[in-house]
Amino acid sequence: MAINVGVIGTGNIGTEHVRRLSGEVSGARVGAVFDVDAERARQVADSVGATAHPKATDVIHDPAIDAVVIASPGPLHAEQTIACIAAGKPVLCEKPLATTTADSLEVIEAEVAHGQRLVQVGFMRRFDAGYRVVKAAVDDGSVGEPLLLHCVHRNAAAPPGFTSDMVLTDSVIHEIDISRWLLGQEIVATTVVATRSSPLAAEHLRDPQLVLLETETGATVSVEVFVNCQYGYDVRCEVVGSLGTVSLENPTTGALTRDGQRRQPIPPDWRLRFGPAYHAELQQWVTGLVGGTVGGPSCWDGYAATATAEVCVASLTDGGRTTVDLTERPALYEEAP
Ligand code: NAP
Repeated sequence: MAINVGVIGTGNIGTEHVRRLSGEVSGARVGAVFDVDAERARQVADSVGATAHPKATDVIHDPAIDAVVIASPGPLHAEQTIACIAAGKPVLCEKPLATTTADSLEVIEAEVAHGQRLVQVGFMRRFDAGYRVVKAAVDDGSVGEPLLLHCVHRNAAAPPGFTSDMVLTDSVIHEIDISRWLLGQEIVATTVVATRSSPLAAEHLRDPQLVLLETETGATVSVEVFVNCQYGYDVRCEVVGSLGTVSLENPTTGALTRDGQRRQPIPPDWRLRFGPAYHAELQQWVTGLVGGTVGGPSCWDGYAATATAEVCVASLTDGGRTTVDLTERPALYEEAP
């Protein structure tokens, strides 16, 4: 029997998830969707033979729906995830788990009270083949003791309405999670430097920004985030260890070498760059559900990332180094990041 998934939010990523869960991921189908844009929801539902419900809670409480994907705007995630937990339904919640530390803690509280994991957070980079190679080289000691991690996160152009805080809470949050995961440590302090802004960024936007994250062992992560770089989508990293380095380049194929030049295409956006990672994320989620388990990035990972991003915003606002003080980790989340 296929897992019958309900999807809340049929915008950019929700539509991608519906398409993958309906045709590409084995063991799943999409049975119901909801979006405040009823026409968009109906079109997406019709494209896969699903029902468009009039309310998000109708998706969650639909007895035919086994599990829920939340792909609505971030400020709605905590409330909708808690509603799924209350209904006892597994949920894949897109990042961020919540937009405030307080709300993330409420989700943790609800899941801990439930007594077993129901929530996976959509930090899909953990499923990317390139990042997995980097993690393996850190975990097996190939690079020795990790000392530095350099990350680059560039988008061609920020969507309208993107703010300086969102550079941290929406974009850098991916780097926060992947740094915690690659290094297997929490972030204990952040410093954000807003350098000279690009003349091509919106007037209100601090872009690019340089973020320094300090880990429990004193390793340092540098993140350059630049959401109006113009040329394409470019995500890279390099771990510098005591014995060597391991790096993730921006994947590209079809390099044209001619006339003394080499030209290589750059992925235009996250859809193309991380397509296989989204597929792997969903497939692992569905396969786990078939076997009765929920794994992947947890509510704790969602909380730690949101709490760290919130501290980054404080650092951007007030300037200087700001410490991250996480609460005690409940036993339900005892694994390393
Ligand atoms: P989006 O295109 O704006 O899609 C969100 C959709 O949810 C829109 O159709 C929006 O409708 C709808 N919506 C608004 N209020 C709602 C409600 N109460 N209940 C259900 N749906 C509602 O945004 P997106 O780019 O898909 O992003 C959605 C989430 O996914 C964000 O949290 C984002 O950070 C995350 N995301 C993650 C990745 C990743 O790599 N993991 C990539 C992209 C996005 P209106 O437009 O009419 O408001």
